Amino acid sequence: MKNLRPLFPDLDIAADVPALVAGPCSAESRELTLEAALSLAAGGVRIFRAGVWKPRTHPGGFEGVGEQALPWLKEVQRTTGMKVVTEVATPDHVRAVVRAGLDGIWIGARTAANPFAVQEIADTLASLPQTARDGLAVMVKNPVSPDLELWIGALQRINGAGIRRLGAIHRGFGYYNPGSGAPYRNAPYWAIPIELMRRFPELPVFFDPSHTGGRRDLVEPLSREALQMGFRGLIVEVHPEPDAALSDAAQQLTPEQFLHIAAPLRRGADSPSEESLTLLREDIDLIDSELLNLLKRRMDVSRRIGELKKRSGLSVVQPSRYARLIDDRTAAAASLGLSPEFIRKVFANIHEESVKTQL
Ligand code: PEP
Ligand code: MN
Repeated sequence: MKNLRPLFPDLDIAADVPALVAGPCSAESRELTLEAALSLAAGGVRIFRAGVWKPRTHPGGFEGVGEQALPWLKEVQRTTGMKVVTEVATPDHVRAVVRAGLDGIWIGARTAANPFAVQEIADTLASLPQTARDGLAVMVKNPVSPDLELWIGALQRINGAGIRRLGAIHRGFGYYNPGSGAPYRNAPYWAIPIELMRRFPELPVFFDPSHTGGRRDLVEPLSREALQMGFRGLIVEVHPEPDAALSDAAQQLTPEQFLHIAAPLRRGADSPSEESLTLLREDIDLIDSELLNLLKRRMDVSRRIGELKKRSGLSVVQPSRYARLIDDRTAAAASLGLSPEFIRKVFANIHEESVKTQL
């Protein structure tokens, strides 16, 4: 990444850790948008988010109100002095946002997964005068698939278009989990954004606990976890009446709830010694619930393998496969700094249980 500059130069967000971006999933009406913005601004939040064009899974879902929301966002900018950012997915969106004079854009997870779409956005940005490009902050969410190179490629395309105020947003990765009871809407796979930070230390990486967790009660523990890992800011969905929101109702917080959560996170950033036993235990509870879900998924797959083996007359235990699995897992454990002996025991137990289910 070349010639990076601060994402919001006149805010000095480097000094403001975590930098907070908050606002509704979608700008649904002028009134709700302003209401959210005024409460957040009063609480000291300086960057406002709101979706204008919403990528929906199924046709017929609420797709955002479109360009008519841009004047509402301008009004937020004017009346609160906040910086205002929104999602773009096409060259038309980029042109409309630049015409409106908003402060920044982000590329959503579905768009970031498509290099053709990202390149079209990059080409549109490249066609702007350098002053317009320097006037715009651009953030790139991770693609839905857990593919670090695809994410980096999208960031490079935007940077290659002459965008210097560049940032990344981690919003979790899609996984196939219908009915699994997995705690998160999208898997955090922390190793991926952390590797991004390691490779591009000057790139600010934000965390989006709303789309990662998918539930409002997960916003606080996930945010805390992320800030301990070195994320530079948070982008959080906040709506004056979350339960009535037209999109992502389950994960949105009221402005009051958000400000309540944000206050100790802000303090926590410069005094990690305030970390309490309770907070760490909550982290352990979340991690254990992830572990349990993974074990359940593994056992389900193992059961299906058992059925296949039965049909094709194969024996349940195949010593060479078992030996390879143990070697592989202990080697991987060693490279993560885990004790190979410990991991050998864990997998011996898991294997024993798998054999039992298959029998
Ligand atoms: C959003 O931020 O409103 C959004 C649609 O997010 P994502 O692209 O992460 O799904
Ligand atoms: Mn959303």
